[in-house]
Amino acid sequence: MIAQSMQAGAAMNQIQTKPVLLIALGGNALIRKGQVGTVAEQFANLRLPVRQIAGLSLDHRLIITHGNGPQVGHLLLQQECCDQGVKLPLEILVAQTQGQIGYMIESTLDSALMELGIHDEKPFVSLLSYVVVDRNDPAFREPTKPIGPIYDQSQAARLPFPVRKTARGYRRVVASPKPITIVEKREIARLIAMDFIVICCGGGGIPVIRDGRAFAGVDAVIDKDLASARLALEVGVDLFVIATDVAGTAVHYGTDRERFLDRLSPAEARRLLLQGEFPPGSMGPKIEAAVEFVEASGKRAVITGIDAIEAAVRGKAGTEVAATRA
Ligand code: ADP
Ligand code: MG
Repeated sequence: MIAQSMQAGAAMNQIQTKPVLLIALGGNALIRKGQVGTVAEQFANLRLPVRQIAGLSLDHRLIITHGNGPQVGHLLLQQECCDQGVKLPLEILVAQTQGQIGYMIESTLDSALMELGIHDEKPFVSLLSYVVVDRNDPAFREPTKPIGPIYDQSQAARLPFPVRKTARGYRRVVASPKPITIVEKREIARLIAMDFIVICCGGGGIPVIRDGRAFAGVDAVIDKDLASARLALEVGVDLFVIATDVAGTAVHYGTDRERFLDRLSPAEARRLLLQGEFPPGSMGPKIEAAVEFVEASGKRAVITGIDAIEAAVRGKAGTEVAATRA
């Protein structure tokens, strides 16, 4: 008995010394540029990041978060094509995509762990996650986040919600309020302490407003990078990885003066953000999320390509945001 509990204690100590990683998967983990995004394509695409994550799980504890933009877009389009008089609000669609994408990541992870022969000792779970936002967030007065299908001008004029002209046509815009706290942070921390791989905060989380002890869903979307930074701080992760469809961050991006950045201090990152190097809706929130995490924790964040997650964790790829060493 004593020997057994000592063994269990030793195993627990081993778990507690494994660093905790939070890996935020961008949209390209599921759908690549130019694809329509069939389920077969999404499963095939997931193999690249998920194999690396399975490998990392040997010596790290892991939290996986993910985007859901195109998946919510598909659901919105399906609702419009077949209106049976039951319109599902955005909070429900976000919940649906957490289930859908959680399932896809889980089953891909299952195979990847099996290939490594560590399937039995590696539990994982996906968790529906709510994220609290402030009902007085200025974002509710001026919705800016385009979602769902593209409309022409005459369709747009008849829509019952705010729309905005984008480069691709008219689209519905919704509020994108700042995440305040992840409702399930304690559950996630407990699962991590037991070395579960936790898939959570999908699509930035189901946005809710707190009313005393109760929560009510709202029609909004939360940026998944900003929600991931909140979660990383609330759970106390050691390294925050943002995986996307470029190798990292550059200045003068897309011009002939483009220069890749291996390393950025939070102060430099803020300065470049103010200079407009990182646009809202793409690189901007990634930099903001990395800076928020690094400033509050004193730890590292790295923005990297989906193919270089492992290399980035080992400090060999991506743009690292970290306080400059004294
Ligand atoms: P994700 O789905 O991973 O969140 P996003 O499209 O939101 O991806 O953000 C990644 C995109 O940011 C890249 O494809 C790139 O085109 C764009 N981007 C904008 N500014 C920069 C920059 N300064 N450096 C690198 N990429 C940038
Ligand atoms: Mg994005």
